[in-house]
Amino acid sequence: MSKVAFKAESKKLLDMVINSIYSQREVFLRELISNASDAIDKIYYKALTDDSLSFNKDSYYIKVDPNKDTRTLKITDTGIGMTKEELEDNLGVIAKSGSHTFKTENEIKDGHDIIGQFGVGFYAAFMVADKVTVISKSIESDEAFKWESTGPDGYTITPAEKAQVGTEIILEIKENEEEENYDEFLEEYRLKQIIKKYSDFIRYPIKMDITESKLKEGSEDEYEDVTHEQTINTMVPIWKKNKSELTDEDYENFYNEKHYGYDKPLKHIHINVDGTIRYNAILYIPENAPHNYYTREFEKGLELYSNGVLIMDKCADLLPDYFSFVKGMVDSEDLSLNISREMLQHDRQLKLIAKNMNKKIKTQLQSILRDDREKYEKFYKSFGQQLKYGVYSDFGQNKDLLQDLLLFYSSKEKKLVTLDEYVSRMPEEQKFIYYATGESNERIEKLPQTELVADKGYEILFFTDEIDEFAIRMLMNYKEKEFKSVSSGDLGIEDDQKDATEEAQEENKDLFASMKEILSGKVKEVRASKRLKSHPVVLTADGEISIEMEKIINAMPD
Ligand code: ADP
Ligand code: MG
Repeated sequence: MSKVAFKAESKKLLDMVINSIYSQREVFLRELISNASDAIDKIYYKALTDDSLSFNKDSYYIKVDPNKDTRTLKITDTGIGMTKEELEDNLGVIAKSGSHTFKTENEIKDGHDIIGQFGVGFYAAFMVADKVTVISKSIESDEAFKWESTGPDGYTITPAEKAQVGTEIILEIKENEEEENYDEFLEEYRLKQIIKKYSDFIRYPIKMDITESKLKEGSEDEYEDVTHEQTINTMVPIWKKNKSELTDEDYENFYNEKHYGYDKPLKHIHINVDGTIRYNAILYIPENAPHNYYTREFEKGLELYSNGVLIMDKCADLLPDYFSFVKGMVDSEDLSLNISREMLQHDRQLKLIAKNMNKKIKTQLQSILRDDREKYEKFYKSFGQQLKYGVYSDFGQNKDLLQDLLLFYSSKEKKLVTLDEYVSRMPEEQKFIYYATGESNERIEKLPQTELVADKGYEILFFTDEIDEFAIRMLMNYKEKEFKSVSSGDLGIEDDQKDATEEAQEENKDLFASMKEILSGKVKEVRASKRLKSHPVVLTADGEISIEMEKIINAMPD
């Protein structure tokens, strides 16, 4: 039995797989399970065209067996198996993907379920194992073969005994070294955890024998270890299910299971798109902002799956900042992954998906606003500020998308109103959308600047967030109505007291001049005002920047 050397390039590549492609060792299991799932899929596809084969889903499974005594981890599948030649071709030549060939040869167009494509995943096993043994029996052959390798120096293939068609992969888990501990890959709970994390939605059962301590029958305090086989994965991903089969509770459970948040989501959005781009997504609008939401620490992002296999925990590119509060996951068959399957090759598809989702998030928020105002106000309390930042940032690029989602407190309605509601209530002669800025609604209500506008019967929007006025400046106008601060010099209100004001101005000319002198450097001008009713004096801004905005700008670090 002579050892066949891996080809020279392969040797280098193998070294790379073992040492540098993957950022985390635990993904070796994801890779082996993906291969097992592919092998079962291949029988399924073959059965579609081959009448002598039948596919009974129940007889196909993947099994994961750790053994601490022998320090081995065995992964068994009932898939299509490999012939001697296939063992040589697929496992002897690195970067050769039998699965990729299978897809092309069988012209499986919607064979997107088959995960393999690069022909390197298998070798991830060497990240945790000193020796890998593969015993396989192909559906095409009566003989079984054993492939064995201890890493870069080559492999052997010998005849073997195996009754059932399929593949068994035995990893001899590495001994611990000073700083490296491999024991975790023999621990039931840890393996379970890894399977849940990456392979929860593999469509075939992934089984393990789980030992649990249980009360002995008939005894009240004596325990015994009971071992029984459990299926670890959920199999059918909730996002591939039909919306009509799912209840609100199902979505809430998924939210909790996935630890998207500790609150109850305000709303879920289930998206199944099957057109030029194909993806499924389950998104959530949380009720409460996480404690670090408005800090630098907060990391936005959605889970990204490719064919039900987790690729990225937090894919930030899927969400714009103004919707960074959205939680959830996206699964797509159309992503071009890089070789480690941890990153994307091109972001074109991702951009398309993000854009499409964005619209849906907006539509959903609008419908909450329309149909459940109370709920929307809850949402707005947590995340309204973020929407306003969204309007302000990117030079107002997103204003069309976001402006209808904004709410401001109204002087007349005494509650939050949308811009659309404001404009639709405007009397015909009213030219502007008026707003007043201040620390709180109570304070704004007392501002002398609001008097004339309020007296006219016009509604005033109260801006109490620092960002409010900045955001509004980016909008410039809404439905062709410009925004106007009540503290701006010209309020654009028809003046029926013009003569009286001019008279007062003339009469008090000297007084105003001496006041200006006393306040020199603090005010630009002192003059008679037509806008006061009950207050003796009012400050107005020179030009378009309001007093509040001036304060904020002055407080900004240079
Ligand atoms: P990929 O999955 O990207 O093709 P891998 O290195 O993971 O690359 O696997 C290489 C090839 O080995 C697969 O394409 C497949 O043909 C074959 N293979 C690996 N594991 C199995 C298995 N459990 N059953 C059948 N064939 C397998
Ligand atoms: Mg693979």
